[in-house]
Amino acid sequence: MKFNIDVTKKDKYDVIVVGGGIAGVAASVSAARCGAGVLLIEKQVNLGGLATCGLISWYEPLCDGNGNQMIYGIAEELIKLSAKYGFDNLPEEWGGEGINTPKNRRYATLYSPTVFSAALDEFVLENGVEIRFDCRATYPVMEENICRGVICESVSGSEFFEANAVIDATGDASIMYRAGVPTEDGENFMTYIVHMYDKEDVRKLNKTGDLCKFRRWVNKGSDLNGVGHPKGMRLLKGVTCEDITEYMVTGKRGMLKYIKTLDKNSFDIMTLPTMPQLRTIRRIIGKCDFNAIDGETFADSIGTCGDFRPENIGRHYQIPLGALYNEQFPNMFAAGRIISAPRGDGWEVARVIPTCALTGEAAGRAAAGIRV
Ligand SMILES: Cc1cc2nc3c(=O)[nH]c(=O)nc-3n(C[C@H](O)[C@H](O)[C@H](O)COP(=O)(O)OP(=O)(O)OC[C@H]3O[C@@H](n4cnc5c(N)ncnc54)[C@H](O)[C@@H]3O)c2cc1C
Repeated sequence: MKFNIDVTKKDKYDVIVVGGGIAGVAASVSAARCGAGVLLIEKQVNLGGLATCGLISWYEPLCDGNGNQMIYGIAEELIKLSAKYGFDNLPEEWGGEGINTPKNRRYATLYSPTVFSAALDEFVLENGVEIRFDCRATYPVMEENICRGVICESVSGSEFFEANAVIDATGDASIMYRAGVPTEDGENFMTYIVHMYDKEDVRKLNKTGDLCKFRRWVNKGSDLNGVGHPKGMRLLKGVTCEDITEYMVTGKRGMLKYIKTLDKNSFDIMTLPTMPQLRTIRRIIGKCDFNAIDGETFADSIGTCGDFRPENIGRHYQIPLGALYNEQFPNMFAAGRIISAPRGDGWEVARVIPTCALTGEAAGRAAAGIRV
């Protein structure tokens, strides 16, 4: 069998960012602010990735839990943006308006994923980034270990976009993996979250006016620790189409089983997730690891974060730039939940929204300086 695939050569950019989740948004804006010409490629039609399309609507804290702000920069701009046009429950001491009751006193907030996603478009475009939606980057084009750009598939056909540097912000490291960068797979409990409301929620909203309590998470799968994982189901990695399909089919089946028990005139599901809610899919093996060790310092630190888990209040973790690249591949960078953070505390801390924004911002700056 012969495959005739024509690839059209398109423009050259300083930096191409694959994936418009939180990390990709931060990376693209950061690179553009350094003066780079940036193309952001997103296979869906909305920005935000898991934080919006995956229906995550809680921006984990930028502080250490003892009142100290740890993360600034684009991560802070994004938490403010998440609360700019939609409801929030940011505590007043962290700049909230005090309209809704805060969930806790940390620099964290609930937000509307749909409103936040719309705001992300504005943010990215205002910063001079070019976006291509409904466009999947399929393969990096490599000359030895230098990435010359990426091939993309969209309704326009197969197209090649050239770049001086490429940032993988795909959430599954598929671009760096296909370039030959060593990687490790994750393992996931089955989680299936939707946002629902019922008549009781409407009554509560009328009484309190607190929208944060209206959009309710309903999870017919596992929590962070495996509680609720379907009996006998294997842990899924999410690196094959079969895994993703099994994950989504099982999740929807569980949700349907639940809603069949409800009075059909009493509730609605606002939206289904449009991407699998897998926490850890694949991460790169970088020049060095981020293990989230309290007080560990790095000569190439890109910043410090705290820990979102209440049992780890007060911990401070520096993140090394070396966790964002593999030195054999000098013009490719990882951003977000795919950085070199081994299973355990490192990956757990690296994958939450503020840390993804922080590593995205650093990847954008690093990539903007590359000329090949
Ligand atoms: C169940 C669950 C609950 C969570 N709860 C919280 C929480 O309460 N608070 C919190 O802060 N964090 C939470 N997280 C973690 C957090 O939401 C995500 O890890 C984080 O948003 C990941 O951001 P990212 O940009 O690295 O990746 P992603 O959000 O995965 O973004 C990747 C983007 O790349 C796109 N993409 C992928 N491949 C391609 C390609 N080849 N071409 C073009 N585009 C591509 C995708 O469509 C997507 O938009 C949770 C995660 C899960 C799964």
